[in-house]
Amino acid sequence: MPTYAYACKNCGHAFDAVQSFSDAALTECPECGGELRKRYGTVGVTFNGSGFYRTDSRAPSGAGASPAASSSSSASS
Ligand SMILES: [Zn+2]
Repeated sequence: MPTYAYACKNCGHAFDAVQSFSDAALTECPECGGELRKRYGTVGVTFNGSGFYRTDSRAPSGAGASPAASSSSSASS
């Protein structure tokens, strides 16, 4: 399972959380209840780049596009 690194925006408390991909991201600081942010996508796993879950919804369906052009896919977060 991937390890997510979180930091609290409020008190600065930082910790790692081991979660499965299906788990919802943590949003609340266990120390103060403040808002958390992810410090990294994952540790040791490239989650947001290409090569992971390529069969996801935006996988090219053989439209003839060059694989090199896949980096321009809109990854709005
Ligand atoms: Zn906090």
